[in-house]
Amino acid sequence: MKALITGGAGFIGSHLAEQLLARGDEVCVIDDLSTGKLENVAHLRSHPRFHLAVESILNETVMDRLVSECDVIFHLAAAVGVELIVKSPVETIERNVLGTHVVLRLAARYLRKVLITSTSEIYGKSESIPFTEEDDRVLGATTKSRWSYSCSKAIDEFLALAYYKEKGVPTVIMRLFNTVGPRQTGRYGMVIPRLVRQALAGEPLTVYGDGEQVRCFTYVADVVWAAMHLMDEPRAVGEVFNVGNDKGISIVELARKIIAMTGSSSEISFIPYSKAYEEGFEDMRIRVPSLTKVKAAIGYEPRVQLDETLHHVIDHFLANKSQE
Ligand code: UDP
Repeated sequence: MKALITGGAGFIGSHLAEQLLARGDEVCVIDDLSTGKLENVAHLRSHPRFHLAVESILNETVMDRLVSECDVIFHLAAAVGVELIVKSPVETIERNVLGTHVVLRLAARYLRKVLITSTSEIYGKSESIPFTEEDDRVLGATTKSRWSYSCSKAIDEFLALAYYKEKGVPTVIMRLFNTVGPRQTGRYGMVIPRLVRQALAGEPLTVYGDGEQVRCFTYVADVVWAAMHLMDEPRAVGEVFNVGNDKGISIVELARKIIAMTGSSSEISFIPYSKAYEEGFEDMRIRVPSLTKVKAAIGYEPRVQLDETLHHVIDHFLANKSQE
């Protein structure tokens, strides 16, 4: 199989590329390196079945050729990270909506199967725990730019489902819940790489709000496994799946765990959301996926739990000291 991975030089995309190559597939990556990095795929570049195009997915000429030459598309290219979203809302909306539109139109032209990467932000600040795929979405006002991410990804989902329904394009949607692992950068706001870096540098760990907000962290290898199996499963077409880990932890507890695991002398510094992001910023208190549907469809089971995930991330930071 020849797979096209949009955003394949990003954190998740680079791990997916590795696994596809390992099982014998040919992999073509397109990435504009906006948040992706060449270092993430440096070890793959000499592989005979690996190809890289440093280009935006909005370049339709290049995308037309790449889509025509592939069998399936893993669409991961997107604006991600709450900090980036709050700072650059225009880029977030345009990149997510216009980029997915290009991918789907070309997938329709060549009738290619597409896996769309979506997000648990879709559920917004709903407190109906655990979130199931058919749940209502609860979002804040349009004046709060955080919600533009949820809406831009929701448009991606609507588009993907519409292209399936109306044009017969085989699309599958996976909603990810706080994916973590080596190569994830804290530069765009993701909490674990940020706190691990701070702990190793002996800096205070920045916990936003009261730290009682709960997240479920998913190890990247579990996400990659799910992506590959959802792509291969014919019954997944036209469906939406949560992919994550259903064991939650509060952020303050997470910070304490990271301090203990790194043997750091750092303290915890509580920072109001208004200072961390912007005035009036709204966070969700709790986010837990129901995994019933994805378990039934592909036998998914989160295999790596938080302690092991943190070990992998800490080891990666120690081995790459120059990381931001
Ligand atoms: N967070 C934090 N300190 C940081 C970065 C993030 O306390 O340095 C919090 C953030 O406010 C959120 C949680 O950690 O409640 C997870 O944040 P992240 O950006 O990783 O993902 P999100 O769940 O917001 O998509």
